[in-house]
Amino acid sequence: MSASASWIARDAAAVWHPFTQHATWTGDDPTVVDRAEGPWLWDVDGRRYLDGVSSLWTTTLGHGHPEVNAAIAAQLAKLDHSTFLGTTHTPGIELSEALVALAPRGDGPELTKVFYAGDGSSAVEAALKIAYQYSTQTGRARPKFVRLDHAYHGDTLGAVAVGGHELFHEAYRPLLLETIGVASPGDRANGADRCARAVADLTATMDAHGDQVCAIIVEPMMQGAAGMLDHDAHFLRTARALADAHGALLIFDEVATGIGRTGRMWAAEHAGVVPDLLTCGKGITGGYLPLSAVLAAEHVFAAFLSRPGDTSPRTFFHGHTYTANPLCCAAALANLRVMGEQDVVARAARLGDRLGKLLEPVAAKDGVVEVRRLGTMIGVEVAPAGDRTGFRVCQAARAHGVWLRPLGDTVVVMPPLTLGDDEADLLADALDAAIDEVLA
Ligand SMILES: *Cc1c(COP(=O)(O)O)cnc(C)c1O
Repeated sequence: MSASASWIARDAAAVWHPFTQHATWTGDDPTVVDRAEGPWLWDVDGRRYLDGVSSLWTTTLGHGHPEVNAAIAAQLAKLDHSTFLGTTHTPGIELSEALVALAPRGDGPELTKVFYAGDGSSAVEAALKIAYQYSTQTGRARPKFVRLDHAYHGDTLGAVAVGGHELFHEAYRPLLLETIGVASPGDRANGADRCARAVADLTATMDAHGDQVCAIIVEPMMQGAAGMLDHDAHFLRTARALADAHGALLIFDEVATGIGRTGRMWAAEHAGVVPDLLTCGKGITGGYLPLSAVLAAEHVFAAFLSRPGDTSPRTFFHGHTYTANPLCCAAALANLRVMGEQDVVARAARLGDRLGKLLEPVAAKDGVVEVRRLGTMIGVEVAPAGDRTGFRVCQAARAHGVWLRPLGDTVVVMPPLTLGDDEADLLADALDAAIDEVLA
């Protein structure tokens, strides 16, 4: 028995995996990852794979980067954990300063304050509660959120409520907050005028319900988990204007798109629009440790300051045991420092363009519906739909040394931002061959 086979047997006996159908899990021959370096993963049998999805969209500089490793080790030697409730610490302060300095600029407020959480979902959860409480403390309770069709904002219940992904969310609808779905500017079912349809829908929705809406939440420019649905920047400018006109907040969920992934530090920069609340996660620590954050505008923060004669305390009663864990903050600081020193965001833009070129022959193949891309966020939609085609293409790519994970019928290509030219070639070649093999 191979080392993989024996570990998989032990896994099957004791583990329940996320987003996984266990009736077929072991039959799909899962990879048992043993170690990683740069863009490479090795399994317990010593086979090497290119990490084509950045370990679920997190890895920026590659695995085992010496400076990030050293920063975590140095922090560990000094302070492992101390609560952010009632005390503070230097990595948490420094990371907040760094994020405020990097925050997007443009049409909208300055983002001046940082609230930490642990994963993308918990950052979204915090942002939703902030938005609702903001409404109660600046006028009147507005209990509704506006969300896009096909949206994905995480899988805690608040985040699920503002999601619009049939497969992930419909089962839980009876449990959820009231939200209003509007057409997505990336929805191919709405054809070439999808952006205009989304703008019209959002406008009509806000005209009808605006005074009940505390926030509009969107994944700016690219809906990732929907299968990489890219948007026209015009939609974000409209969302900003409509939020302002109706006194609602605008939330950008940059958990996937942020930290250089789209070839800019934030996807918001493609549109020149700044939201009132911006969530980030995934790439913030470079993929080393779980951490997320909500960047907040000063006017939002100010609404939570108590005033003489208040009947309610205005405090944001929210936070987790490990909020702003110092090891996570140290990893994030090192990641952001190296990204700055090595101009990694510009490199990501060039890598994205290169992959776009390399995938042109793939896009032209029969059985490839569309290749969608913004920076290094790439979706290759394959057909026939609903036949595990995406999964089979990923399995075939693995035999060519590239590890990929699909979203339904869309093969996601989202490598580390510092991927070299040779590795980019390997990735594109493996995908090309895998598609030929599966669709032959
Ligand atoms: C992944 C993702 C989340 C959820 O983040 P987790 O860390 O998995 O909780 C939220 N929003 C977007 C846009 C994401 O892509």
